Amino acid sequence: MSGKEALVVGAGPSGLVAAITLAREGMKVQVWEKEKQIGGYPHWHPSAHDTQVGKGLFGYIGIDLSECFQEIAQDLKHVINGTLIEVRVSKKNPPYVCERGSRPTSLDSVLFRIAQAEGVRFTFDRKFTPEDLSKVPETTILATGLSPEMYDFLQIPYSIYAGYFGQQEIEKKTAGASLFIVGFSNEYGYSSWINGFYYVLLFSRKEISPENLAEFKQLVEKHDGVKFDQWKRFMGYTPKTCNLFYQDRVILTGTLAGVVEPVLGYGITGALLSGKISALTALDREKGKAEFARFTRGIPAAIAKKKEPGYVPIPPRMSEVWFQFPEE
Ligand SMILES: Cc1cc2nc3c(=O)[nH]c(=O)nc-3n(C[C@H](O)[C@H](O)[C@H](O)COP(=O)(O)OP(=O)(O)OC[C@H]3O[C@@H](n4cnc5c(N)ncnc54)[C@H](O)[C@@H]3O)c2cc1C
Repeated sequence: MSGKEALVVGAGPSGLVAAITLAREGMKVQVWEKEKQIGGYPHWHPSAHDTQVGKGLFGYIGIDLSECFQEIAQDLKHVINGTLIEVRVSKKNPPYVCERGSRPTSLDSVLFRIAQAEGVRFTFDRKFTPEDLSKVPETTILATGLSPEMYDFLQIPYSIYAGYFGQQEIEKKTAGASLFIVGFSNEYGYSSWINGFYYVLLFSRKEISPENLAEFKQLVEKHDGVKFDQWKRFMGYTPKTCNLFYQDRVILTGTLAGVVEPVLGYGITGALLSGKISALTALDREKGKAEFARFTRGIPAAIAKKKEPGYVPIPPRMSEVWFQFPEE
């Protein structure tokens, strides 16, 4: 294996975990990233993401990222149709917040530094296009996240989400989050804050009217005490299926592979986990396939539930919905 080349396309969490894992196995790893620097799509980030973190996650991926995930200590605010409910944080499965983007404290920056220390080489401002496919090394992992161009090229069916988000620096350094279930959206809104940065996002599977956006802004101001001058439009895309390969050859990972928790769209844990699985697949195809199947088996049924009448996006226990680490 020593000296064998690998290409990873996309320097998000899944691509970086894949790159680190392969570099540790002695492979010469190159990462192509379409943006000019680490930290993903600058329109969306910096941002704060909340997620659950399975206890065995860092052990499973072989990278201790605990410095990037702050546990939410206080009760979680749930605002359901305008009514505030303080939900006790589960001691067993507490929620966490992590920072995304290019600031030095972000998950992306921490993983980038680890990858550099492991000898991974980066080419920024290098966009992968379908024409590249015939030229890439035998070991190629695509980790391009929620890019509709790539879904179209790889023929992966996807759902479209519309919405709005706001972001700004705040005084508060502790981590926290609120969840907003609003009648006009069959999805939800959330806010998270960490490292002095606040982020709020409202998802919907249909367009949000100006009246509904105004209602949501008022809720955020009332319950989080944060007001924005500028709300940016959000269009998101997530796969409807889970796929480990394209044409049984190129390996897929992260959001592109459909490893996203289906109810709230927690993709961070899925990205870290599947980054490791994609590297395992490059090293041992059968083992990788078995791990991918084990961790994604609950996803199709959970996606199908979203079509049921009266569906409400209830936050899941991660381990019940779609994966379980041996330690849990
Ligand atoms: C606004 C927003 C809020 C979110 N909130 C949460 C949350 O609160 N909790 C949670 O768990 N998850 C959240 N998610 C989901 C989570 O961010 C993703 O699931 C996670 O980032 C997936 O990681 P990834 O490595 O697969 O892809 P990404 O992080 O998207 O990284 C993909 C990388 O590939 C690069 N790229 C794309 N196309 C190309 C190309 N053709 N060539 C080269 N490079 C390319 C991109 O620039 C990017 O750097 C959110 C997502 C968004 C967009």
